[in-house]
Amino acid sequence: MAREKILIVEDNKALSKLIVKKMESNLDFDVDMAYTFEEAQNLVEKDSDYFVALLDLNLPDAPDGEVVDMILAHKIPSIILTGSMEKEIREKILKKDVIDYVYKGNIDDVNYIFTLIERLHKNRDIKVLVVDDSMATRAQIKSLLQHQMFKVLVAAHGEEALAFLEDNPDIKLVLTDYLMPVIDGVELTKEIRKRYSKNEISIIAMTGTNADLISAKFLKIGANDFINKPFTREEIACRINNSLDALEYIAKIEDMAQNDFLSGLANRRYFFDAMQEYFKEAKRKNESFAMGLIDVDNFKQINDTLGHRVGDTVIVELAKTLQKHLTHDHFIARLGGDEFCVVLKNIDQKKALEFFIKLNHAVAGLHIHTKEKKDLSISVSIGVTFGDLESVEEMINQADKALYIAKKNGRNRVEVS
Ligand code: GH3
Ligand code: MG
Repeated sequence: MAREKILIVEDNKALSKLIVKKMESNLDFDVDMAYTFEEAQNLVEKDSDYFVALLDLNLPDAPDGEVVDMILAHKIPSIILTGSMEKEIREKILKKDVIDYVYKGNIDDVNYIFTLIERLHKNRDIKVLVVDDSMATRAQIKSLLQHQMFKVLVAAHGEEALAFLEDNPDIKLVLTDYLMPVIDGVELTKEIRKRYSKNEISIIAMTGTNADLISAKFLKIGANDFINKPFTREEIACRINNSLDALEYIAKIEDMAQNDFLSGLANRRYFFDAMQEYFKEAKRKNESFAMGLIDVDNFKQINDTLGHRVGDTVIVELAKTLQKHLTHDHFIARLGGDEFCVVLKNIDQKKALEFFIKLNHAVAGLHIHTKEKKDLSISVSIGVTFGDLESVEEMINQADKALYIAKKNGRNRVEVS
C-alpha cells in the first residue's frame, strides 16, 4: 500500500524544511511541500488524497488565509499554522472547519504538530459514543468528533447507549450528557462500569446545571473526566485526547506486564496466573487437558557460533511457528530463555500427544533465514504431561522431567511423563 501523504503549505522555507525533516524521522508519511497558494493549488488539483494539510494563513500570493478555503473545498482535513495568537485571529481560524491550529512561534509548539498528527492517525480506528437527548447538541459534537477523525455513534438516551455498547464492544470513549429521559447520564455511567473498567472504556460526562455537584457525582461513580457546558471545541478536543492517551498508556503497561518483549507471547508471570485460573475451572468441569514444555535443542551453540541476534531471531520465528499451530483452545507462553509452554485445553491424551508430535515435526521442518546464516534449521524437545495431577506446579515438574528424558534420549523428540 502506498504511504499516506501530508501537504505543507508554508512560505517560510526554513520552517517547512524543519517540519518535513522531523515528520520524516517521527512519522510514517510522505510529504509534499508548497511555498505559495498557486503551488498548493496545482498539487491538490492533481491529487487531493492527503491525510492532512498544514496551512500557513499568510502566503505571498494569499495574505488572508485564502489557502484554507481552497484546501477545505478539496475536502482535505486541515491544521492551521499561525504566527499570531491574537484572540481575533484565533477566533477567525476556529470559525473555519479546521481541525486545530498550531502556533509556530517556537519549537515546542511546532512539536505539537507531530503529537496531533499521530493522535489523528490513531483516532481513525477509535469508536466514540455520544449520548445526549438534544439533537442539536448531538449533531454539534458529532461533527466536532468527526473533525478529529473519530468513528462516531450517537444515542439519544442511556438505554439506547447501552444497546450500542452491546453491539459495539470496541467503543473506547463515551461522552454523556447528565439529564436525559429513560436512563440518565449517572445511571448510564453506573451501568457501563458494571461491564467495563475505567481502563477499558473512558467516560467523559458533560454537565450543565449545578455543574460542581454533578461532576463530583459522576467522578465518584467512575467517570474518567467531565466537561462543563457550554464548552469550546478546543477544550473538549483536549480532554478527549487526554482520556485516550491515558487509556493507551494503561494498555501499554498492561501489555508490558503480561507479554514477553521479544516474542510477544504471554510471559511467565501471566502464564502462571492464567493457568491457575484454568486449572481450577478444568478441575471443576472435570475437563481433561495437556501441557507441553518445549525447549530449543542446543540453543547455546546457536548463540555461541552465530551470535545473540540470530538466537533472538530463532526465538521469534519459533514463537510464530508455535502460534500458527494453536487454536483458541490452546494457551502459549514463553517461560524464559529458550523454553516455551503450550497448554491444550479440553483434549484427550491421544489427541494431545499427536498434536505435540506434529508440532515437533513442524519445528524441525523450519527454515530460518538471517543475515548471518541463510538457511538455519532448529529442533525442539518436548516434555508432555496431562491434567490429572494435583497442581500447576506439579504439572510443570512432571513436564520438566519428560523434557529432561527427551534431551537425554537424543533431543528433537517428544516424551511423556
Ligand atoms: P539443550 O539442548 O540441553 O536445551 O541445550 P541448550 O544449549 O539449549 O541449553 P539451554 O536450554 O540451557 O540454553 C539456554 C540458553 O539460552 C542460555 C542463554 O544464554 C540463552 N538465552 C536465554 N534467553 C535468551 C534470549 O532472549 N536471547 C538469546 N539469544 N539467548 C537467550
Ligand atoms: Mg535449550
